Amino acid sequence: MRQVAIIGSGPAGCYLADHLLRLLPDASIDILERLPVPFGLIRYGVAPDHQGTKAIARVLDRVLTRDRVNFYGNVEVGRDVHLDELMSLYDAVVLATGAERDRRMGIPGEELSGVVGSGAFTGWYNSRPKHRAPQVQYVRSAAIIGNGNVAIDVARILAKGPEELAGSDLSPQVSGWLQAQPIETIHVVGRRSAADAKFTDHEVAEMGTIRRARPVVIDPAGLAGESAVVATLRRFAAENRAAPVTINFHFDLTPAVFLGDNCLRAVQVRSAHGSIVELPAQLAVTCIGYEAQACGSVVPSNGIFANVDGRVQERLYVVGWAKRGPSGTIPTNRTEAQLVAQKIAQEVTGADRPGRSALRQLLHERHVCWVDYAAWRRIDAAELARAGEGRCREKFGSVAEMLEVAQGASLPSS
Ligand code: NAP
Repeated sequence: MRQVAIIGSGPAGCYLADHLLRLLPDASIDILERLPVPFGLIRYGVAPDHQGTKAIARVLDRVLTRDRVNFYGNVEVGRDVHLDELMSLYDAVVLATGAERDRRMGIPGEELSGVVGSGAFTGWYNSRPKHRAPQVQYVRSAAIIGNGNVAIDVARILAKGPEELAGSDLSPQVSGWLQAQPIETIHVVGRRSAADAKFTDHEVAEMGTIRRARPVVIDPAGLAGESAVVATLRRFAAENRAAPVTINFHFDLTPAVFLGDNCLRAVQVRSAHGSIVELPAQLAVTCIGYEAQACGSVVPSNGIFANVDGRVQERLYVVGWAKRGPSGTIPTNRTEAQLVAQKIAQEVTGADRPGRSALRQLLHERHVCWVDYAAWRRIDAAELARAGEGRCREKFGSVAEMLEVAQGASLPSS
């Protein structure tokens, strides 16, 4: 048997496991996950009103049911088991840990209450444990920094009214917070031109379908180029319907300072011509990308783990955002995982390492209550069962609640 440990159960980790199963009939694969629940950004990153996209979780779930795959939720590498221990137990170890830390703007005022990174914000609205609501009330105006699809997600969630969010898996607390905000204006701020924006046309076009909001292009004369995104923005600029919320698309504006005393008051931006503008805002969400975090002694540089086609060092590999940075769509991970799986299949030989049995022994000795696949399904079923009217799921917002449900039958180490 070739023993493989994958750290992280998001799309990159699950797709890698799937490809390894096909390529290596002798592989035994253990997927370790810090949270009790799997699927990473599918569960905690994809927007709650995009349940169609979240449905990919069903495909990933099937990977976890395969005979040669074991899921170990609530097992944190660095806390419960160390990376060098995994390296000694397994023939190959794969970092599928994503890019969890929000990139910083590095401008004055970033510490003000009301300025949050998109990872913190999307984690909160997706009920990710340890993610709290923005420390701000009465948001009339919000500034979304960045021109990627995350910026569009954030703007859309803020713009939609409760009826348009019905059927999502927003928690009652998050829905309550959103409804309590008297939002009138959302500024989406790009530092380059519309033609350079990274968001995709499908996502931008959706902004024109929000009943409660109207997208506006602040400088329509400045729209240059012929891309699909530019065409959609031109269409927005030609429309003139009334709506309670206005989504202002600004281009060629570089954020310079977050202004305020303790709380954000405005974002000062600089135009390409050097003029300074203040955009009033009580909330600013910086949607400018993410960086990988260290895993044990392996430290990222420039936000990713240095690698050659997925190989970090002998028997240690990396996939997903931890490998290439925060880019691409969910299927990008499937294609990339296939290439890394092929590399692992070529380079890694079985060396009688104990793998799974030794990991279990070690977790038992350390009294780690891991969540196996059956326990994850208990959490899943409980979340579906407790969803109130108007939502498809109500996630547990804390690890303790998840473990309590998982322990419906006792967890493996207890
Ligand atoms: P992204 O697509 O890389 O966009 C980041 C944006 O932040 C860019 O507009 C970038 O501008 C800007 N930016 C970076 N540093 C900045 C700074 N210091 N000041 C001002 N602006 C700055 O990243 P993302 O939106 O976080 O998305 C990550 C990945 O997830 C992408 O591949 C995205 O497509 C994907 N995603 C997809 C969906 C979907 O398909 N529905 C939803 C969410 C996310 P420059 O271009 O000038 O660098």
